[in-house]
Amino acid sequence: MNIFGWTKEQLAEALKDHGIPRFRADQIIRWMYQRGAVSFDAMDNLPKSLRTQLPQHFSIDRPKVVSRLHSADGATIKLLYEFADGQTAETVLMRHPYGNSVCVSTQAGCRMGCAFCASTLHGLQRNLTVGEIAAQAIGIADFLRQEGARVDTIVVMGSGEPLENYDNVMAALRLLHEEYTIGLSYRGVTLSTSGIVPGIERLAEEGIPISLSISLHAPTDALRNEIMPVNRMYPLADVLRAARAYAERTKRRVTYEYILIRDLNDSVREAEQLAKLLRRQLASVNLIPINPVAERNLFRPSKETIRRFQKALEERHITATLRREMGTDIQAACGQLRNRLMEAGL
Ligand code: SAH
Repeated sequence: MNIFGWTKEQLAEALKDHGIPRFRADQIIRWMYQRGAVSFDAMDNLPKSLRTQLPQHFSIDRPKVVSRLHSADGATIKLLYEFADGQTAETVLMRHPYGNSVCVSTQAGCRMGCAFCASTLHGLQRNLTVGEIAAQAIGIADFLRQEGARVDTIVVMGSGEPLENYDNVMAALRLLHEEYTIGLSYRGVTLSTSGIVPGIERLAEEGIPISLSISLHAPTDALRNEIMPVNRMYPLADVLRAARAYAERTKRRVTYEYILIRDLNDSVREAEQLAKLLRRQLASVNLIPINPVAERNLFRPSKETIRRFQKALEERHITATLRREMGTDIQAACGQLRNRLMEAGL
């Protein structure tokens, strides 16, 4: 049984079945989550007898890093993790002036089918487990610890639709919040969704103050249907209603992501429609010039078009920030690195 991903309580319960006292769980858990141990043998404050007994029942399996890319400016590191069954997922570390942020994946592949996204090109392989999601952040925390730094924030914006893997994502966030792992503050977590309405409603009831980000990308149902199939199931009005309710319930501001795609959703008319849609909301818009995905034939608008779009929103009193781009030289667009390796047969 792989214990990586278990809480201290789960481990203590399992140890009890083998007559091992509770305080051992405390020792083992810290070795595993804070000291990078991948074998019981390394845990030198456990008696020798226990170190031989434990591997008969338990293992500590962490995903392997199979590719590591550093951006030229050193601010971004992208890892490709490989899991026990050969599935892979990407994780990105972004060093911001305000702290270290980790972008985690929640699924191997994705079934949402968004037209601009590389993660969905090969469909969904499977949900990631609690341990596989948590391991991405814990691996980066281990790395940062060597330089006396830590993981400050997490964005659940990697490959996959987190609200389609709801239980594992929430369990992973709760695990990462524990002081015996990385002591993550919920206020430092942003979860991004393509707009799964029941998932947003459920999240609002969790009672944990994480920020919600909605991938909007189009201001009308007609256009959104075209580029995000999920919109046929949960149309704009329903998504916005759920997002507004989330903001009211949690008192957290909701951000709307809007990828700018040349000649598709980048005109002033669309900016006006977007402003109208978001009127009277505690909301801000994050504009993201598309990371071109060669397979999709979608391109980035000119700088002038981007500026014009942003200005049109601001004139209508919608806060719009342009996403600071990081890691474009290392295939940091969702799923790009994974695809490259899949296509190379790796
Ligand atoms: N499924 C979730 C989380 C993963 S996508 C969601 O849809 O929100 C995280 C963000 O990256 C989303 O806003 C997504 O739309 C964006 N994204 C996907 N492909 C992109 C691309 N080619 N260029 C820029 N942003 C992209």
